[in-house]
Amino acid sequence: MTDQAAPKVNLLGLTKPQIEDFFESIGEKRFRGGQVMQWIHHFGVTDFAQMTNVGKALRAKLEARAEIRPPEVVSEDISADGTRKWVVRVASGSCVETVYIPQNGRGTLCVSSQAGCALDCSFCSTGKQGFNSDLTSAEIIGQVWIANQSFGTVPAKIDRAITNVVMMGMGEPLLNFDNVVPAMQIMMEDLGYGISKRKVTLSTSGVVPMIDKLAEHIDVSLALSLHAPNDELRNVLVPLNKKYPLDVLLETCKRYVSRLGEKRVLTIEYTLLKDVNDQPEHAEQMIALLRDVPCKINLIPFNPFPHSGYERPSNNAIRRFQDRLHQAGYNVTVRTTRGEDIDAACGQLVGQVMDRTRRSERYIAVRQLNDEAASNRN
Ligand code: SAH
Ligand code: SF4
Repeated sequence: MTDQAAPKVNLLGLTKPQIEDFFESIGEKRFRGGQVMQWIHHFGVTDFAQMTNVGKALRAKLEARAEIRPPEVVSEDISADGTRKWVVRVASGSCVETVYIPQNGRGTLCVSSQAGCALDCSFCSTGKQGFNSDLTSAEIIGQVWIANQSFGTVPAKIDRAITNVVMMGMGEPLLNFDNVVPAMQIMMEDLGYGISKRKVTLSTSGVVPMIDKLAEHIDVSLALSLHAPNDELRNVLVPLNKKYPLDVLLETCKRYVSRLGEKRVLTIEYTLLKDVNDQPEHAEQMIALLRDVPCKINLIPFNPFPHSGYERPSNNAIRRFQDRLHQAGYNVTVRTTRGEDIDAACGQLVGQVMDRTRRSERYIAVRQLNDEAASNRN
């Protein structure tokens, strides 16, 4: 029988209890886990040899059984407005994107959870690529690790450039629950990134059963991608709505937020699409729909991408929509577009997904046929 070495455990993606269990499983004291975690996340160390408070024998043992392996950085761009974007290659071979947005003394990191997305919202460029793979917890927290490193870690001091994390990059985080939850735990742990639970936000298009399950595991903030104030329109924009319609979805979100207590509210994200969901009647419907939902509203003017078929509303239409909600008593903000010069704006994240369904190729082929048919008619 050949003696096959067991695959090395990637310590980057382990929460504190998980890394302590690992040390116990190799016959070491549990507190060693915390020490190593601090080296990884506070000091950005990936080489066991640099862990000076870990004895030589243990370092050798770790080298044989474990590794600290962040995903590969393919590129890093810095926008004129300070926004940064990383393209990161994950184990499946696809690339995902991570964006850092500095604004008003805060630094928000927008993290991806999947390569591509299976949910196919009609206005989303990630959805247009189809689904390729779930990211591992190491690949998710690895994006925070990479961003944190880029600001230069200072020994004995945790870098505070990243004050907030939003799971609003590529993918539907609740469809990769088992990897997303540990990664968010590491974001919040003191030996990880020490970010407060209020400042870690999961954004979902509405996977109802997983919202209830989330509440059993973690108390991060929740954002709901609403985008339409009635089921008829939402069925078109967010096809998942056919499975989990608005009444059950909003009840579930209310339940999640009420369990958090402490005056925490749901964030409603609403991508404004010209002549589709930006009319006065949509604002009126939204006011009625959200009447008893403790929430704040974030309007996202549509960010165009090729062949989307949608347009961004005029600034007047955006202001009208915002003013009406504001008059009705809602806290409403309009998300300003950041990092446009490096294609880092919301909904422009495309990465480079190996689409298993080859849907994007079919989509392009159909577009070409349509374009040819149109030019033949002219
Ligand atoms: N899958 C999750 C999180 C990722 S999408 C979700 O849907 O909530 C993050 C946000 O960007 C969502 O609110 C999404 O609807 C929005 N978005 C997607 N494409 C967009 C575009 N082209 N312009 C503006 N916002 C977009
Ligand atoms: Fe997926 Fe979110 Fe895009 Fe919808 S908006 S396709 S859920 S990433």
